[in-house]
Amino acid sequence: MAIRRTGWRALARAVECLAIAALVASPPARAQEVEQVWQVNIHGTWMSCVSFDRRRVLIELDYGSEDVGYATRLSDGTPLIVLNPDVVESFSPAVAQFWFVHECGHHILAPELNSETAADCFAIQDMVRNGVARREDLYAFREEMAWLSGSPEGHLPGPQRASHIIECGNDAMPKTRIARLDGRQR
Ligand SMILES: [Zn+2]
Repeated sequence: MAIRRTGWRALARAVECLAIAALVASPPARAQEVEQVWQVNIHGTWMSCVSFDRRRVLIELDYGSEDVGYATRLSDGTPLIVLNPDVVESFSPAVAQFWFVHECGHHILAPELNSETAADCFAIQDMVRNGVARREDLYAFREEMAWLSGSPEGHLPGPQRASHIIECGNDAMPKTRIARLDGRQR
């Protein structure tokens, strides 16, 4: 039994080493490179963020991160967005820019309103209102988010998440010409 347990432990260690070797080997040459900036260019658009308490959000470009991105604060309270530009840019422009605005949403929304679904809705509506996302861009979310799993932190599973984003995006779209005319007649 003891030998078997040691054997398993050795195997587990070997698997762990392989996993680490794979992580080290697979990213491009600039893996492990980390850069801090105040704005980032995502598919040709410069993007920056200011938090709900009016602080500039620092952006950390971490080419070694496995996550597309996350929002956090430094110990001195500086709001921070960590992004892996290689992962972000693997998505189409609208979805790639959405990842940034979603993380920004976590800093813009007041703490009592901040959640994964609220950040998703905030992000797509902000993009629609600023003309960054058009109606046809919304369908990319269904395709590109289909494989995402949900999380205990409140991320909806990919297909439901895409549906929620599309619904929020559509709600923010300008009303049709007919609806505007109706409004003027009243
Ligand atoms: Zn989030």
